[in-house]
Amino acid sequence: MTDAPASDQLVTALGPVTPAELGRTNCHEHLFQRSPLLPDDTLDDPVRSASELADLGGSGFESMVDATPIGLGRRPADLAAASRQAGVHVVATTGRHRDAHYTDQPWVLALDEDRLTQIMINDVQRGLAVDDTQHRERPVDQVDLAMGPGGLPVRASVLKVGLDYWEITAVERTTVAAITRVHAATGAAVLVHTEFATAAHEVLDLLAADGVAESRVVIAHADRNPDLGLHAELAARGAFLGHDGAGRAKDQPDQVLIDLAAALVDRGHGDRILLGADVARARRYRSYGGLPGLAHLGQRFLPRLRERIGADAVETILVANPAHWLVDHGTQRRETSA
Ligand SMILES: [Zn+2]
Repeated sequence: MTDAPASDQLVTALGPVTPAELGRTNCHEHLFQRSPLLPDDTLDDPVRSASELADLGGSGFESMVDATPIGLGRRPADLAAASRQAGVHVVATTGRHRDAHYTDQPWVLALDEDRLTQIMINDVQRGLAVDDTQHRERPVDQVDLAMGPGGLPVRASVLKVGLDYWEITAVERTTVAAITRVHAATGAAVLVHTEFATAAHEVLDLLAADGVAESRVVIAHADRNPDLGLHAELAARGAFLGHDGAGRAKDQPDQVLIDLAAALVDRGHGDRILLGADVARARRYRSYGGLPGLAHLGQRFLPRLRERIGADAVETILVANPAHWLVDHGTQRRETSA
């Protein structure tokens, strides 16, 4: 693919880095987000969000994936500025979440496969618009691009689709179809938001049928259904498992996630786990006055995980796995499917 980026680099909000520069990576958080599903939890304060990112860095992470897709308050210029200020690499996302997030923005749901493909390719190759609502009115090559503090446009390197509970709606299928085209053109990694890991096999089937290898896809929120058999099956297919629910005590104790990770490591699937915490709510960010904050994962969860599975296995999960998911290594597809 002539359009494909250099296979050994990843474009962050501040520009290209090598996989080695990524270091320890939190694979699912949101610095900025606005959704009708979370009306009292908007993340939209550049100062507070940059401060929270600095907390994440202080808890032992060098990089973070911001998983906010089109239309949900991405604030790309502020994202890049926060990255510069906190000294943490941030990888931006494009794509479309599940239908329920767009009840107040029907124009996003109305984007057809061609239009969504154009916008996502623009986000990956040229840069994000200063505000996604510009895509309502303007052709993709006429939006104003958000600029980072270094003077470069802010580009995305992750393609996201959100799915419903045991359902892939017509709009969500359109997103999957657009993602397969953008992945073919750019080699960007794919993130699938699932509701409790339902429809995970089905979406992997859809993606694989159009040439997206499982080894470039993460099933986000897989740990909301801590079913070892399912996780082992998905890992055996080559997919990455998003274990991104630490700190959600109302859903399950962190011990469940630690036990699950340990069992997967025992079965030889430690190379398929990606960690994050998807805190994602103002009331859960310290800088916005809440708890436990983005540092919970590094400060409270990781020491327990290290004690259980060992420091080397945790390092693989934090460093090697994110680089394999995010970066188009070229040979990885063959290695994984061999
Ligand atoms: Zn999320």
